[in-house]
Amino acid sequence: MATLKVENLSKEYANGVKALNNVSLEISNGMFGLLGPNGAGKSSFMRTVATLQDADAGSIFLDDIDVMADPVALRKVLGYLPQEFGVYPRITAEQLLDHVAVLKGIQNKGERKELVHYLLQKVNLYEKRNKSVKGFSGGMKQRVGIAQALIGNPKLIIVDEPTAGLDPGERNRFHNLLAAVGEEVIVILSTHIVDDVRELCVDMAIMNKGQIVYKGTPDAVLEDLKGMVWQKSIKRQELDTYQQNYKVISDKMVAGNPQIHILSEHHPGEGFEQVSPSLEDVFFTKIDEVNA
Ligand code: ADP
Repeated sequence: MATLKVENLSKEYANGVKALNNVSLEISNGMFGLLGPNGAGKSSFMRTVATLQDADAGSIFLDDIDVMADPVALRKVLGYLPQEFGVYPRITAEQLLDHVAVLKGIQNKGERKELVHYLLQKVNLYEKRNKSVKGFSGGMKQRVGIAQALIGNPKLIIVDEPTAGLDPGERNRFHNLLAAVGEEVIVILSTHIVDDVRELCVDMAIMNKGQIVYKGTPDAVLEDLKGMVWQKSIKRQELDTYQQNYKVISDKMVAGNPQIHILSEHHPGEGFEQVSPSLEDVFFTKIDEVNA
């Protein structure tokens, strides 16, 4: 059982943007979802933990590895899958994984071959091992990305916004693969897609404007909002009035008219019906608290 302990991490970019504002998180084995809108600071957090950029203040420990003092020790037990997994032209899946294995210090050729074949099977690309990765679909590239992240028995795997650009079938396969990996190591998954977290993660945090605004299990946070979410279909021109009079957490168009979700401890009145809170309601509620 490994533990990642991040304390009081802060980072301000040269342009004055405070991307990380005193972030503390403790994360153990299994899949952890870091959910937040674009610009929340997720990538800054992930890149800092992955030792790809420095923080201004704070500390990061993976068990007894002091990540900031000894980035090399962290890299030995890290698998990292960036948003855009860069691929060399005309290199086959097998060559690419072999190359990464060399970089990760696996010197024995036979051992490398065995490992690479094992991983290709695990991500269901063994049949395609001699094909150029350049011609792969987005989902297949992501699976190559996962395979390379698994080389060297990582204790920590960091996956940054993985499902952007995947079709539903690919996204599903990618989720299943991640879920299988997640039991053995710490996997941190950053995403702005609520469904990714709901389907995959045992534990989660919501980030906004460089701060952690919620940390806990998806179930616990849903329990917090129980009985407080109400729904109503309204007319488009009424939206402003409702926003002034109620705590509207979301509005979406359904059959041409806005359907609003509001937060209220009591029955808010005519036409509202109580609905079970969704993780999406949680997301908008928590993000609103920071904006307020
Ligand atoms: P997320 O991954 O949640 O979208 P980021 O960590 O990429 O968030 O960005 C957080 C904030 O920091 C944003 O306002 C973004 O514009 C800014 N930012 C990110 N990288 C840099 C950089 N290298 N220089 C200046 N500002 C940056």
